[in-house]
Amino acid sequence: MDKKPIIFANWKMYKTVEESVRDSLKIDSSIRNPHQVEVFILLSYTSIYAVSQALRGKSVKVGAQNVFWEDSGSYTGEVSPLQLKDAGCEYAMVGHAERREIFGEDYGMIARKFKAVMRHGLIPILCVGESEQERASGKTEEVIRNQLEVAFGGTVPPGGQFYILYEPVWAIGTGVTPTPQEANHINLLVAEVIRGLIGKSAERARILYGGSVSEENISKFLSMDHIDGVGIGKASLDPENFARLVNACIRD
Ligand code: PEP
Repeated sequence: MDKKPIIFANWKMYKTVEESVRDSLKIDSSIRNPHQVEVFILLSYTSIYAVSQALRGKSVKVGAQNVFWEDSGSYTGEVSPLQLKDAGCEYAMVGHAERREIFGEDYGMIARKFKAVMRHGLIPILCVGESEQERASGKTEEVIRNQLEVAFGGTVPPGGQFYILYEPVWAIGTGVTPTPQEANHINLLVAEVIRGLIGKSAERARILYGGSVSEENISKFLSMDHIDGVGIGKASLDPENFARLVNACIRD
């Protein structure tokens, strides 16, 4: 399995089409030795097609921040994995904490999305992570275990890789993070739980960390044995800053 560090940007509900194209190209051209890293950007739906066209043949790839589980139908306002693939996506995130908290997505829905994305040959990024309250009451491991059990319930479609993002809710956009050792410990737990649930297919998993990753801490998180990559929100919005973070992980 390819073990390049994975670094992705989550641009959330920011940037017009023009800004997304401009900033994606800026990032792509600023990365030194791009073959050493896997870099992709999760865009708003409206920018996906234009950015994927602009990045054709380049190293930075494109993904979506959300997806629906059906292929087509009367689901006003939703976007299917087929449509994402058609627009040039290679990745789709499912279950981000903001989707769970603001839009009421539960793990049953997230499980359907996770499997639909895999069925269509896109790489899903499944988010797991505990809230501040759950952490304070010592429930982190129980919460992560439950989230994974629901997401992997039933059968997992055959195929390629899937990414799990450990993203504690209390670390998102706050500047507060677990220590790299704490995140590493949870990522190891994720690996063990998945192995228990799906056996050998767990080899398809790459396990990442997200939540207030910055220039100061990115190399520390990526130096951990069980952290295969990082997801970056706020610090990815400025393309020069994001490229600097990526370059910090590249050997000359
Ligand atoms: C995110 O919300 O996916 C994220 C990683 O955000 P931030 O880096 O801003 O904590």
